[in-house]
Amino acid sequence: MKILVINSGSSSLKYTLFEMAHEKVLFSGTVDRIGLSGTTHEFRVGLNGEDETRLVDVTDHGEALDEILSTLTNGPLDSLDELPAVAHRVGHGGKYKEAVPVNSDVVREIRRMTPMIPLHHPAMIKEIEECQIRMPDALHVAVFDTSFHRTIPDYAAIYGLPYRYFAERGYRKTGFHGHSHQYVSGKVSEFMQQNIRDLKIISCHLGNGASVTAIDGGRSVDTTLGMTAVEGLIMGTRSGDVDPGLMPIIMKEDSLSPDQTIDMLYRESGLLGISGLSRDMREVEAAALKGNDRATLALSAFCHKARRSIGSMLMVLGGCDALIFTGGIGNNSSTVRFKILEGTAKLGFVMDDAKNNGQERTTPESPVLDISHPESGIRIFVVRTFEELMMARECLNVLKIVREQKQ
Ligand code: ADP
Repeated sequence: MKILVINSGSSSLKYTLFEMAHEKVLFSGTVDRIGLSGTTHEFRVGLNGEDETRLVDVTDHGEALDEILSTLTNGPLDSLDELPAVAHRVGHGGKYKEAVPVNSDVVREIRRMTPMIPLHHPAMIKEIEECQIRMPDALHVAVFDTSFHRTIPDYAAIYGLPYRYFAERGYRKTGFHGHSHQYVSGKVSEFMQQNIRDLKIISCHLGNGASVTAIDGGRSVDTTLGMTAVEGLIMGTRSGDVDPGLMPIIMKEDSLSPDQTIDMLYRESGLLGISGLSRDMREVEAAALKGNDRATLALSAFCHKARRSIGSMLMVLGGCDALIFTGGIGNNSSTVRFKILEGTAKLGFVMDDAKNNGQERTTPESPVLDISHPESGIRIFVVRTFEELMMARECLNVLKIVREQKQ
């Protein structure tokens, strides 16, 4: 049984083709810079076969899909009929708490949630619609970044606004990066050979988007991202927490419309906004190393926010057994990991500096790296995330349910 997972960004389409019997990746790739100059299609057999990259003439997500599907049918697939189901990553599920087959109501709900995650949803909706046209016989399943956080209790999810926003409009913390937090916490429980029901875990997904989640017995109980994809940590171009009282003041002072304000919070803030250089942590770190003051400030602010959030989650959980770093930054930056945990031995975090800085890296085959010192009260792990696998599993479950219902 093969399942295709598609993850669309505003100018990219990532895809992974799975053989579900052994949860094996057959083929994966990314079409990047869609609608911009120099659009590329990078792909490989499996997850870490040799990369092949070609320049492609693709101006929108529909054409990007044509490129991907023809690559698949000229490679690992004989025909698209071999795909019974396609998983589509969707940022915000709104009223949908779990993965569902796509129908017009689901698309309407995803569209209704667009203001909550404006950089991603328009491309995701377009991608789903284009896919349905090209694969009319496959089951299309929407898998939501928010699902894993449906267990967050009301008292942690509610905002201190008038109650009607919670009760009537459903405005509450919904969180994101659910597939990543769920995957890495599961992997760590396997690694520790302990049932996840017996573990308290703090998971830090640090990438272009970033969030810290408290996981108690395998259930998300709190997370830093909110109803929108802005709350919490400083991110690549998103602000994270800002004093809410400051926003209307800035809007008035600079005569910003709501849309301009959204643009500022989502595209011009975060690492990019503070450093004035880049949203890319590698570039920020390199500039900080050369003594650039704003890059140093951006790096320190990023780490401080993450550190503060870990402290909050430690109290939420009443202690924890394991701390996880994942996402592009969490998985790769020993500097960020060091700065976040520096001087926290009294709280139970003692990193093994040699392991943190060492040559050993996570790989797809060996995604968990233990970087804790033997004296650390809390185990510290670096984990290479694999969100697509969780999406493929959810999609397969929905496919099974749909097939059972048909019988
Ligand atoms: P996304 O949230 O878009 O999936 P990723 O999880 O791929 O993003 O993370 C992208 C971030 O990871 C970028 O800020 C990038 O600079 C950072 N990153 C990747 N490799 C390294 C590295 N070796 N050192 C520091 N940061 C890194």
